[in-house]
Amino acid sequence: MSRRIIPVADLSAAPVIAGPVQTPRGVLHDTLSRPLRDLRISVTDRCNFRCVYCMPRAVFDKDYAFLPHSALLSFEEIERLARLFVAHGVEKIRLTGGEPLLRKNLEFLIERLAQLTTPAGRPIDLTLTTNGSLLERKARSLKDAGLTRVTVSLDALDDTLFRRMNDADFAVADVLDGIAAAHAVGLAPIKVNMVVKRGTNDGEIVPMARHFKSSGAVLRFIEYMDVGTSNGWNMAEVLPSADVVTRIAEQFPLVPLEAHSAAETAQRWGYADGSGEIGVISSVTRAFCGSCTRARLSTEGKLYLCLFASSGHDLRALLRGGASDADIATAVAEIWQGRSDRYSQLRGSQPADSGEQTSRRVEMSYIGG
Ligand code: SF4
Repeated sequence: MSRRIIPVADLSAAPVIAGPVQTPRGVLHDTLSRPLRDLRISVTDRCNFRCVYCMPRAVFDKDYAFLPHSALLSFEEIERLARLFVAHGVEKIRLTGGEPLLRKNLEFLIERLAQLTTPAGRPIDLTLTTNGSLLERKARSLKDAGLTRVTVSLDALDDTLFRRMNDADFAVADVLDGIAAAHAVGLAPIKVNMVVKRGTNDGEIVPMARHFKSSGAVLRFIEYMDVGTSNGWNMAEVLPSADVVTRIAEQFPLVPLEAHSAAETAQRWGYADGSGEIGVISSVTRAFCGSCTRARLSTEGKLYLCLFASSGHDLRALLRGGASDADIATAVAEIWQGRSDRYSQLRGSQPADSGEQTSRRVEMSYIGG
C-alpha cells in the first residue's frame, strides 16, 4: 500500500502580516452626489402570480426558463454582500422577488440579516415586499426571525378583477387575510402598494382608499411604469398621481403631509379627519431620480443601479472566484461612485420613440420593484 504524502508549506518566505486587511467602508456617493442607502435583494425570480404588468403569462409560461437553484446567491453569499453594503452606508434592506416568500427557508436569511447593524450601531431597517398570498401562513415565523415590517402589493378589492389581474386565480381574501395576519403579529407599519393602470383598475382607487382608511395600513398608489420590456407599456395607461389624489379627496378630504426623509419616494397625504394617510408614487409624472439612493441585487448576484437598467455588475463572480471582502467592497465602491443613472428623469425629457425608451431593460421580476 502506498503512503499518502501531505505536503507542508514552507512559510519561511511568507510576508509578515502586520494586521487584518482593512475592508473599505464609509458612505459612498455617486456622480450626482446621491448616497448609497437602500439595498433591494431579489431572493427568487419565481412568482405564483402572473400580473400582466410584471410577469405576463404570454412570456412567463410553462416553458419559461427560470434560474436553476445553483445560480441563485446562497443565504451565506447574500449575508456577506449585505454586510459589506451596510459598512458602505446602507441602512435599509428590502427583500423582493419574484415572490420572496416562495424562497425556501427565507426565515434563515432574515435571521442573519436582522443581526446587521450600521457603523453607528443602529439595527438596519429590514423589510420585504410580497404579493401576500402566503403571508397568512408565514407572518408569525417572519416576525420571529426578525423582520420588522412588510409591504403588500394589492391592485384591486374586486375579486373578479383581482383574479383577472393576477392571472393565477388567487382571491382577494387570501391577500386580505395575509395583511390581517401581519397586523396581528406586529409587522408594522404595513404598506399596501396598488399599481394603477388607467382603464383597468382605476375604478378601484376609491374602494381601496375606503377599505384601508382607519386600518392602520398606509395605502400607496403607484403610477404604471415601463419596467422591463414584456408588459407592452403605453403612456395612455398611466393615470397621474394628481388625478388619484383628486378622486380620493372628492370623497375623503386630504391634507398634505411632510416627507419622512429627502429620499422618500411617496408623497404623503393625510385624511383630514385624522384617520390615516395615503401615499402617491409618481414614478412617471414626477421623477424622483435626484434623491434615488437605491441599488438592486438580482437573484443571481448582479448589481443594478437603476430599476430601468439594461445590465448589471456581476458580484457573484467575485464571491465565487475567491475575492476577499476588501476586493468586493472596493468593487462596490467603484461601481456606485461611477453611477449616473436617472432613467425616469430622462424619460420625461425624451420623445416616446427615442432609443432610451426602447432599449432592452431588465425585467422587474428579476430584480424586484
Ligand atoms: S429611474 Fe432609476 S435612478 Fe430614477 S428613481 Fe427610478 S431607480 Fe432611481
